[in-house]
Amino acid sequence: METTNNDCVFCKIVAGEIPAEKIYEDEDLFAFLDITPINAGHTLIIPKKHYENLFELPDDILKKISIKLRDLGASVKEAMNAEGLNIGMNNRPAAGQIVPHAHFHLIPRYIKDGYKHWGGRKYDEGEITKVAKEIRERIK
Ligand code: AMP
Ligand code: ZN
Repeated sequence: METTNNDCVFCKIVAGEIPAEKIYEDEDLFAFLDITPINAGHTLIIPKKHYENLFELPDDILKKISIKLRDLGASVKEAMNAEGLNIGMNNRPAAGQIVPHAHFHLIPRYIKDGYKHWGGRKYDEGEITKVAKEIRERIK
């Protein structure tokens, strides 16, 4: 979907209908502070047009976002005197996506901030080979 969505909180932020602490704006992209940050400076980068998730993003927008993730990421890290930076994106509710307008999180990190990564599990016997094959067969 490539339009403004009237029910979408991020479309409303882009349109200036609800307030946000803007960090950056150009023709295609908008970045603003997350209101419930993991750490201060936690920033969201979004396309101005309403695409629901990663899989809907056109190549040109995704390329622009990638470069902005690097450059704004450096600004966020420097401004917040952060020791590291996470880039995250949740796609679909099963992955924790709450706002269905594609967005990337830039999260300044500190050695002692207490934020935990997800835990991993071990593959069963032979599973890893099978899984790799399933994915490789679907590469477009
Ligand atoms: P998620 O969809 O889980 O990747 O995350 C949505 C993020 O949007 C959360 O971290 C929220 O804190 C953030 N958020 C929701 N509404 C607003 C808003 N009005 N202004 C800024 N951030 C928001
Ligand atoms: Zn939207």
